[in-house]
Amino acid sequence: MNNKIKYMKVTQMNKIRHIFLLITLSGLVLAQNEIGNIYDNYETYREKLITSKRIDHTLLSEILRVRTNSPNVELKIVGKSVEGRDINLIKIGSGKTKVLAWSQMHGDEPTATLALLDMMNFLLADDQQNELRRKVLEAVSFYFIPMLNPDGAEKFTRRNAVGVDLNRDAQRLQFPESRTLNNVRDSLNPEFGFNLHDQSQLHAAGRNNKPAVISFLAPPFNYERDLNEVREKSMRLIVSISKTLSKYIPDYLGRYSDEFEPRAFGDNFVIKGTSTVLIESGWWPNDREKNFVRKLNFISLLSALNSISDKSYHQNLLSDYHLIPENQKLMFDLLLRNITIEKNDKEFIIDIGINYTEVSDPECGFSLVGKIEDIGDLSTHSGYQEFECKGLKIAEGKIYNQTIKTLEDLTRIDYFELYQEGYIYVLADNVEILPKYPKFPINILSNSYIKPPETAIDNFANFAFLQGEDVVYVVINGFLVDLSNNTKSVFNGLTIP
Ligand SMILES: [Zn+2]
Repeated sequence: MNNKIKYMKVTQMNKIRHIFLLITLSGLVLAQNEIGNIYDNYETYREKLITSKRIDHTLLSEILRVRTNSPNVELKIVGKSVEGRDINLIKIGSGKTKVLAWSQMHGDEPTATLALLDMMNFLLADDQQNELRRKVLEAVSFYFIPMLNPDGAEKFTRRNAVGVDLNRDAQRLQFPESRTLNNVRDSLNPEFGFNLHDQSQLHAAGRNNKPAVISFLAPPFNYERDLNEVREKSMRLIVSISKTLSKYIPDYLGRYSDEFEPRAFGDNFVIKGTSTVLIESGWWPNDREKNFVRKLNFISLLSALNSISDKSYHQNLLSDYHLIPENQKLMFDLLLRNITIEKNDKEFIIDIGINYTEVSDPECGFSLVGKIEDIGDLSTHSGYQEFECKGLKIAEGKIYNQTIKTLEDLTRIDYFELYQEGYIYVLADNVEILPKYPKFPINILSNSYIKPPETAIDNFANFAFLQGEDVVYVVINGFLVDLSNNTKSVFNGLTIP
């Protein structure tokens, strides 16, 4: 073959490749537009029977009973929890590629359970999104286990009824929940797995001062964190999801460090040949019910199913996976900057980081406990809420010298007046019969207290800020109250025995 002919052949080949690439790209652009439309119309698919993120097994069972009454979906009980609750497996679609997702292995991590139910509604709907839906359902058989740990979900705790973290039981397989997940994986042998969790609010997306709202991990299969075809596929798929999410939350995506954990399911499933993707739902400011994060989780799953069905993840670069910033524990719920503190007649400048813990409360679902997480130079950290305290001096909150007997007494208090005097505690004789988390913007102290509890690390976040001699802000259970406008910002107070 002479050089000229060789050149012509190469150019023709390039042309064909170019046309092929254009067709694939235009298909991808089309799919991305459709995902954009679905993002805009997400409310259509959002499961309406859910009114709170704290879904229990009874409500889940009811939703499954109502929504799976369709020939296009299969529902099977595949196991029972330690306390005898059903573990369900749902199948939608008839494609060659098997995908298995499981959620709420940790009982207090419900976001993905809700997103999976939204996804079920999307996949079973019949509307203008049929093209994308059909493409997915013809290519993929989508299996999912919503709420793998129903006993933990019942108490809204991480662990199962025996107090064990199921994600450390992938080898020993002592518990029925773990065995169920393992059996389902082994019997289906899916090409892809989605291990769906919620992460704590502490994680930032790298060092960019923003929370990691969605985080990913392509779990490793050995301590050396080597790559093989199975793990590389997880990485490429994560790049597809992160490209989709970047349109909505470009700086809020994080990647977990990939230390090998031999007792975890993700790592073990990669060893067994399932390309597993860990998705962690984080936190978005002022979204305690995680409604926006649930939507993003839904879009993540949709993006993944779309990318699996047209195999577009193949084109992603592994290096793009490593470009997702690694999570750093740099966030606080509330960060108070540049506070003046006085000790031994000397003044110092400090920052205070406060975090809220959600605790179950039989009266209203959940309450919050605000604690001082750190004190000092926190300039490397960020807050979901931040407040500049330059010129403000921190002072202990005072105890109001009047003992309350019942909660009724708290309804008669003018809190604004109390705060102005620096009072943030009232006393009670009988704290043991009062609610632990009163729905009043004040703390209740047992009358054995003579001095208020100290403002120190790991203690409850209760104090006041002075400007000169005037109290201008108070912090009650970690919630900042501005006395210039007296907005109701305290989620709940605390009863301190
Ligand atoms: Zn988890």
